[in-house]
Formats: sequence, C-alpha cells, structure tokens
Amino acid sequence: MDTGIPQNPIPNIPHSNYQRVVIVGAGFAGLKLAQKLSRSTYQVVLLDKNNYHMFQPLLYQVATAALPPDAVSFPLRRIFHKTPNVIFRMAVVKEINKQERKIFTNLGTMEYDILVLSLGATTNYFDNKNIQKFSAPMKSTSEALYIRNKIISNYERAINIAEENDRKPIMNVVIVGGGATGVELAGSIAELRNKVLPKDYPQLSFKNMRVILIEAGNSLLNGLSEKSRAKALEYLQGLGVEVMLNTLVEDYDGIMVKLKDKAPIQTLTLLWAAGVKANHMKGLSSEQLASNGRILVDDYNRLLGEEAIFALGDQCLLKEPKYPNGHPQVAQVAIQQAANLAKNLKREVKGKEWAPFRYKDLGSMATVGKNMAVVDLPFISFRGFFAWFVWLFVHLMAILGVRNKLEILITWAWKYLSFDPSLRLLIRPRYVKAFKRKWMIEEKDYED
Ligand SMILES: Cc1cc2nc3c(=O)[nH]c(=O)nc-3n(C[C@H](O)[C@H](O)[C@H](O)COP(=O)(O)OP(=O)(O)OC[C@H]3O[C@@H](n4cnc5c(N)ncnc54)[C@H](O)[C@@H]3O)c2cc1C
Repeated sequence: MDTGIPQNPIPNIPHSNYQRVVIVGAGFAGLKLAQKLSRSTYQVVLLDKNNYHMFQPLLYQVATAALPPDAVSFPLRRIFHKTPNVIFRMAVVKEINKQERKIFTNLGTMEYDILVLSLGATTNYFDNKNIQKFSAPMKSTSEALYIRNKIISNYERAINIAEENDRKPIMNVVIVGGGATGVELAGSIAELRNKVLPKDYPQLSFKNMRVILIEAGNSLLNGLSEKSRAKALEYLQGLGVEVMLNTLVEDYDGIMVKLKDKAPIQTLTLLWAAGVKANHMKGLSSEQLASNGRILVDDYNRLLGEEAIFALGDQCLLKEPKYPNGHPQVAQVAIQQAANLAKNLKREVKGKEWAPFRYKDLGSMATVGKNMAVVDLPFISFRGFFAWFVWLFVHLMAILGVRNKLEILITWAWKYLSFDPSLRLLIRPRYVKAFKRKWMIEEKDYED
C-alpha cells in the first residue's frame, strides 16, 4: 500500500555510539531540551517542519506590521553551529511505530532510542468548518504574515470602493477570543486605526472601521487577577475597541459573523484566537490521550505505558497535586518541563534517580498598547506604564539572539517616538506552480 510516506531511512545521519534522542518539534520545549543536551553523551536529532524557531508571544506584532517576521523567528541551524552531537532536519513528522522504535516523516524514517514529542498545539475551531475555512488563525510566523497582508490589502481595496456603505465590511476587523493573543491583537489593530492608517489612506474615513473583540466568557484574560482583567478592558475601550463579552460566534461565511442571540456583524476579516488543541500524532493509542487530545504523561513527562517516549509542553497533560487538571499551555511550562527532562536524562547516564516535574509559576502579563499593560507576579500585581516597561523588558530578554534583540529594540524605540511602524508592506507570495510546491508551500494540515 502506498501511504505517500517514504520508507527509506533519512540519509546522512552520522553513526554514533551514543544513545539517540529524537526530538520532534523545535518550539519552546524541543529547542530548550536540544540546547540542554548539546555537548552531552547523547546523539540528538531535532526535527521541525520549519527551519526556524518561532517566538509566538510577539506574533501579533508581525500581524500588525510592528515587527518584521525575522525578528521573531530564529534559524535553528545557527543555534547548533558548535554542537556536533545535535543534528537538525526540516521534516514533517507523521507517525510513530512504538514497537519498532521508529518514526515516519516526509523525508523518510528515523529510529530512536528515546523519542520526545514537543509538537505544540494548533488552532481549535471547535469543529466549525466554515470558521476554519473563512477565518484567519495566528499560530505561526507565516499565519501572522498572512494577517498583515490581509489587513493591508483590505485598505488598498477599500480606497477604490466608491460607496461608503460598501467599504464598511472590508474595513472592520473582528477578533474572537479574549485571551492574551486576542487582547494584544485588538489593542494593536485599534492603535493602527487611530494613529497610522488615517495617514496612509487620507481619503478613507476610519470612523467607519470597527475593531471588535468577542469573548464567550464573562471577562477577558481569564487566569489574571480581577484588577488586571478590569484594567485591560478599560484600556481596550479607551482605544475604541468594542468588547463583546458573553458572546458566542455561531458561524461565519466570509462576510457575515453570526452571533448567538445578537445582531450579526459584517467583516471580511475574522481573526480566530479562540482556542487551541494539541497537535495530533498517529501511532498513539486512545488510552494515551486525554479527552482534549493532549498526550497523557507521568510526573517525569513519560508517555503513559511507554519506556522510551516522552512528551513536553502544550502537547502533553501532566497532572501534579497543585495542577490536578494539567498545566496552562504557556511557554514557561514547556521550558521548565524540557529543563527537567534534560536533567533527568543526564542523571540516567550517571545512574542517579530521576526528579519529578513541579511547575514554578513565574506570573502572567499582557499588553494592550503604548504605555498600557497588566502584570501579575506571584507576590505583586501592577498595571500602567511600569507594567508596560516590564512587559517590553521580559519579552526582549526572552527573544533568542543578540541581532534579534537589537532589531526589536530599535524597531520599538522608533515606533515609540514616531508612532509609524513603517512595515506596512504588502509582499504577496508569488504563485508557485504545482510541481514546485513541495518545498515552497507549507503542507495543509486540515480538510477543506
Ligand atoms: C499567538 C500566540 C501568543 C502566545 N503568547 C504567549 C505569551 O505571551 N506567553 C506565554 O507564556 N505563552 C504564549 N503563547 C503560548 C506559547 O507560545 C506556547 O505555550 C508554547 O509555544 C508551547 O511550547 P511547545 O514547545 O509545547 O510548542 P511550540 O512552541 O508551539 O512548538 C511546536 C513546534 O513543533 C513544530 N511542529 C508541529 N507539528 C509538527 C510536525 N508534524 N512535524 C514537525 N514539526 C512540527 C512546530 O513547527 C513548532 O516549532 C502564545 C501562543 C500563541 C500562538
């Protein structure tokens, strides 16, 4: 049977006398684990469908033309220039054969001694095919660039539409999901509408552009303190964002957003930030998955019922006494789990006992716009200019690479002083002929 998956081993993987750890996914968890195991007595093979690491917390700034895509993406090969025990391949992993200790990828097969799954999460449309088809998600650099292009192309089109009423749907932006991503996107788009777009398109009236944030629950930023949630709402309303709480999106046909018990909204741009679900991997049994699709692991991030397979970060569900329903799907959990597994794998070599994972919550924060942010740390909570400054500093420090840090610092400083992000370019992807698409276009991971 032709499964379309090559059955040959991936070529040019050097032979090693060390045990081979195959890490699938070079996000926050997979990359941290590979870095911690570099120069160890393991051969590490790191696989990712992209050849770069994405810093997802700043993707909304790519989507709103505040940062260039290369500032929030880092080439994986460069990180491992001086660590020959870490090998990287750009590969899409499709399936696991647990009995043969082998994985199947679009490049071929790969045998492992230890397998670590850190494929993260993808957008959850809650089975609504129309919303999946017509809305725009924002989980990757390429999706953020798509949103940037979509928003800019909307105004390049709107300016050529004669009737004001016909322009409205193309100018409105509706964001669904009141978590940090939705709040940050809404604030940033409102700032563009208030300060930047009127200068670019002086013949358009931006009073006609609505920025609407829809949330099904009764507050934004679930998980943050009550004061921070209230302040974020106040900031957004101050920027002119229409926040609709307790509102359920039922359907979307590309033009009209249908709401439960409320009047529909016209927009050509529906940004979907309403939910995530763990990425799926063929070859795991149903007992190894939680009802929400996350992979069930024990205290050591070991897949239930397996000796040699581990899962980290957004993709897994680890229940500890303080988090009986699992941890939040955030970067710190992924990073800390990876650091703990790296320590345990090194302990294994020395014949030492393994340590269970215990999450240390370092706090949460979100920004709404210039000088406006909310920060909840374990012992203190604050809002306003200082919170915004702390938010900038923490994100700048977390970004990989000196060049990226400098690029972001300069871009932010320029934007702060001029309020003109100057990245509003509509660089459209060139049409790629069918026979050339394999390496140039991302694989589709959904049904039409
Ligand atoms: C827009 C956005 C904003 C966010 N903001 C914050 C924030 O402010 N603070 C915070 O703490 N968290 C934030 N998060 C969540 C945070 O990014 C995740 O919790 C974190 O990335 C999880 O790390 P991970 O390693 O489990 O997965 P990821 O970082 O998502 O990494 C998964 C990797 O697997 C790769 N991959 C997926 N499928 C395959 C495949 N089949 N084959 C090969 N490779 C594959 C992907 O390319 C990716 O590199 C945000 C997320 C998003 C999307």
